[in-house]
Amino acid sequence: MGGTFDPIHIGHLIIAEQVREHLGAAAVLFMPTGQPPHKPGRTLSAAEARYAMTTLATADNPHFSVSRLEIDRAGPSYALDTVRALRAQHGPQTEVIFILGADQALELMTWHRATEVLQEARFVTVPRPGYDLGLLPQRLGAAAGRVQLLALRELAISASDIRARAAAGLSLRYLVPEPVRQFILAHRLYQTSNGNRRDGERSSQP
Ligand code: ATP
Ligand code: MG
Repeated sequence: MGGTFDPIHIGHLIIAEQVREHLGAAAVLFMPTGQPPHKPGRTLSAAEARYAMTTLATADNPHFSVSRLEIDRAGPSYALDTVRALRAQHGPQTEVIFILGADQALELMTWHRATEVLQEARFVTVPRPGYDLGLLPQRLGAAAGRVQLLALRELAISASDIRARAAAGLSLRYLVPEPVRQFILAHRLYQTSNGNRRDGERSSQP
């Protein structure tokens, strides 16, 4: 499960656990992105801070781990490089399954060398408020068949909203795991509204 995780929130964790359970997968690897090709408009928190929060959030789940692959790689984070690196690391037979929210799944064809990524990995997507997965066939064409839809309950939570709450001095309790909340407070993350500009997502996410 890749993401900017700025910050990681309970939505990510609930989705990861339920998808893992559903697929009977042994593990979920959280992959904080390095320089995301899709988020040129916003200054991300430091990669180390996002990595630290992801580690804190996942520490109590034996099925969860965090990879530094993308944050340690120079240049933009391309999914295709990541799939190939994971196979090189874990063996050529390793099955890589991306877990994506609906917003990301609908944009899949804009990914760098999307067709190859879709051939080399499996994709599972889950609903997200404000995004219509019914548009998937139209957006992905023939590749839509490569993306499995898992109809989990929608969760109206986003990191954008959490950053806005932090900037407004509102409580982050129960939106992020407690150690992540403590980290955000200790490092004074998201104190200004600089981090809250949305990149084309507009107000469809409550
Ligand atoms: P931001 O608002 O900064 O974009 P985010 O909440 O979307 O943050 P990301 O780190 O961008 O979090 O997302 C990582 C992955 O988790 C993406 O595939 C995204 O679609 C998915 N995701 C995050 N929150 C939800 C949610 N509430 N429902 C479904 N998918 C989600
Ligand atoms: Mg997002």
